[in-house]
Formats: sequence, structure tokens, C-alpha cells
Amino acid sequence: MITKKVESYLQTISEKKHLNAFLEIFTDEALQKAHELDKKFQIGEPTGKLAGLIIAVKDNISIKGKRLTCASKILENFISLYNATAVEKLLNEDAIIIGKTNLDEFAMGSSNENSAFGVVKNPFDEERVPGGSSGGSAVAVAANMCDAALGSDTGGSIRQPAAFCGVYGLKPTYGRVSRFGLVAFASSFDCIGPIAKDTETTARILEVISGYDENDSTSSNQPIPKYSELIKETPVKLKFGIPKEFFNEGLDEEIKSKIFDVIEFLKSNSFEVKEISLPYLEYSIADYYLLTTAEASSNLSRYDGVKYGSRVHEPLSIKDLYTKTRDEYFGTEVKRRIMLGTFVLSAGYYDAYYLKAQKVRRLIQNDFIKAFNEIDVIISPTTPTTAFKIGEKTDNPLAMYLSDIYTTSANLAGIPAISIPIGFDSKNLPIGIQFMSNFFREDILLKMSYFIEKKFNSN
Ligand code: GLN
Repeated sequence: MITKKVESYLQTISEKKHLNAFLEIFTDEALQKAHELDKKFQIGEPTGKLAGLIIAVKDNISIKGKRLTCASKILENFISLYNATAVEKLLNEDAIIIGKTNLDEFAMGSSNENSAFGVVKNPFDEERVPGGSSGGSAVAVAANMCDAALGSDTGGSIRQPAAFCGVYGLKPTYGRVSRFGLVAFASSFDCIGPIAKDTETTARILEVISGYDENDSTSSNQPIPKYSELIKETPVKLKFGIPKEFFNEGLDEEIKSKIFDVIEFLKSNSFEVKEISLPYLEYSIADYYLLTTAEASSNLSRYDGVKYGSRVHEPLSIKDLYTKTRDEYFGTEVKRRIMLGTFVLSAGYYDAYYLKAQKVRRLIQNDFIKAFNEIDVIISPTTPTTAFKIGEKTDNPLAMYLSDIYTTSANLAGIPAISIPIGFDSKNLPIGIQFMSNFFREDILLKMSYFIEKKFNSN
């Protein structure tokens, strides 16, 4: 009974309201759709591939007729005019959307403390962050408020919260899933992807939301493999690489030891595992923050109080309207990024920062391309630590940015990556391992995730 399931999720959502995972809940619509589906099942009418799957959607992804706040005051009352392609595809396959989830404002952040509508709490320890920016989506899944969620990942925003909350999170290859209807942060990095309680659900959702879309010229027309079937094949003859640059001082010892348990498990299953080097990796955080802030400063220029969104009252001039609106309705982190991005694009600094960063991006991508000539999967931690305390890093943006150290490189290169839960540390906080593969080889990631899940499943 789908209706029963929706009711039980709605009950949990209300019981765990204090976690602040949702910004809006679609009680009536979800129940009505569940009812319709139950009826269809009863009389044996055909239903879609995701019939009965209850999904939450990050509130930077459009759902027609619903608010699309991006957890920002500047879009607090903005209503979407159309469905994002990913949402449209979910609905076409009879998924039920239960609500919109909280996030860091405009997906900028690693802890969900940057939401204009309050921090999200980690269900494993409510004094800790759930990660970000898709923190609401990860908590909704981890705290049993839905079957799965859509998140967005520009530098780790699906994988890092998935790791902090003990769930699966996949960032697809850039272009695998249409970005149409995803509010732009850094357009050459942004990806929509699934967060779920198991590999199979992750695969089913990816299979549905992937594909070419005429509304997104960067979407790819590569054929879509049957991920949900492929995962069940035993993975054979895959070669794994451990980048030595990823296993240095910054990494928590307990995470490291869990990652090595997985590596031992792979070796005992006759997989070849060897050390590799990705020499330009050390520049990835700097490179990521130069390029994404540049793109963000341009993308966010549209919020000027004129075209749409919030607007201050009685400005003295047009310039006053722009500056007061942006000052009043953007949060601190968003302003910081707009200023950084404007700086790196400014005439005197463009060559030294933006252009150089573009070149470094290519070097980082080349490192990966070279590595994938020899191996199939790169193994790394998803995060350098487990979930940190609320407030612990808010005064130190650099420390906050460093929590993305293992995730940003996949976005710089455009390759797919998954975070898989593999157990807990001594504080009982979830640990995630990250697998990265070559362009459009999500099938390998999901197959390996399924394989690991059977051994290390922590849920
Ligand atoms: N935490 C990273 C940032 O703040 C990544 C964000 C994301 O992937 N949307 O930019």
C-alpha cells in the first residue's frame, strides 16, 4: 500500500520537524497520488517504473507551481513556472514527490548552516551538521522521511552530506542529467543526482533522470545503460587506483582505517589495487573556488530586484534598488562568493586568476584521463572527517572549504563519483568511501557500490 507508506513518511516528517530537513511538504498531493497509484495497482492498470517511490527534491530544483527558494530570502516567494527535466522524468514514471528540502543558500556550503531558513541537524547527532549543500535531502533519506531524494552537486554537495548521514549519493558525469530547472550556481560544474538508502534505488533513479534534453545544450546523448539491472552482475577484472595525494595528514585515522578495510576486501576478491598519482590534485580546492565563484558571480547577477525575486521598498534610484536588494536578501556566504568571483574576473586580475584556473582545471582533468588509461576506479575517502559540530567552522571559511578536499576534483574533471556508506567511527558517526570512474561509467560505480553494500551495508 503506497498510501500507507506516504502516511508513515508524513508522520516521521512531523515527528522529526526539528531536524529542519524540509522547507515545504506536499501532504495533499502526495496522498492523492498514492491513492491513485494504489487504485491502479488494484485494478491491474500499468504504472511507471518508479511507481510508489517517495522522493524529496532539493529546493534549488524547479517543481511547477511550487516555491523555489534556494534557501535564500531573495527567492523566498518565487514560484516555479515549469518542472525541471529531472522532476518531469520522475513524475512521468509515477514517483511521488513528498516535499522540497533545505540546503545551503544557492547550494553554497558544506554544512547546511548557510540556509536563510535555519540549519539542518544530523540525525545521528543533532549537535552536528548533516553536510551540505544537499543536507536536507540527505537527512530526509537518512531519517526515513522518504525513499530517496534529488540533490545537486557542484563540488561535493551530494556526496559529502550522503557520507555524513550514512546514505548513498551519486554525482553523475557532467551532462548525464539535464540541468534544465536546476538553479545555476556554477554552470560548468552543476549536476543533479540521486541520494538514497541503497544502491538499487540510486540506480533506478539515475536511469530515469538521465538523458539528452533539448533544453540543456550541455546534456549528453550517450545511451542510457540499464543501471538497475547491470548492478546485479558480479563486477570482474576491475582495476582500482589509490591516489597517494589523498591519504595524507589531513585525513582522520578512523576513516582511513575503514577505507583500508574496503581495500583489503577488494584485494581478497581478486581485484587489482595499486597506488596511483594525480599530481595536480593539490590545486583542486583553490581551483574550484576560483572558477565556481567566477561563474556564480555571473549567474547570480540576475537577482537584482527587477526581473524577479524579492525587492526592497522605496529605493532612491535604480542603483540603490540593486544594491539594497542584494545587500538585504543575500546571505553572507553568497555575498562572499559574488565578491570573490567578481574579483577574479575583473580586468586586472582575469589572466592571473580566472584564466590560470581554467588551465589548471584542464591539468587536473588530464591527470584523471591518464589514470583511467590504467585503472577503472579511483578510491578515496568522501570527506576528511566525519560530521562536525554545528558552529565549528562557521567563522573560518577556509576550514569549511577544506571539507570538500576529496570531492571537488570530480566536478573539475566532469567525471562521475559516488559516496557509499561503509560503517561508523567511534562516535557512531557515518563514514563514506568515494569511488570515481571515467566519463559515463556510472555503471561501474553502481556495480561496485552494490558489491560493497552487500558486505558493508550499514543501514
Ligand atoms: N561545498 C561546496 C561549496 O560550498 C560544494 C557545493 C556544491 O556542491 N553545491 O561550494
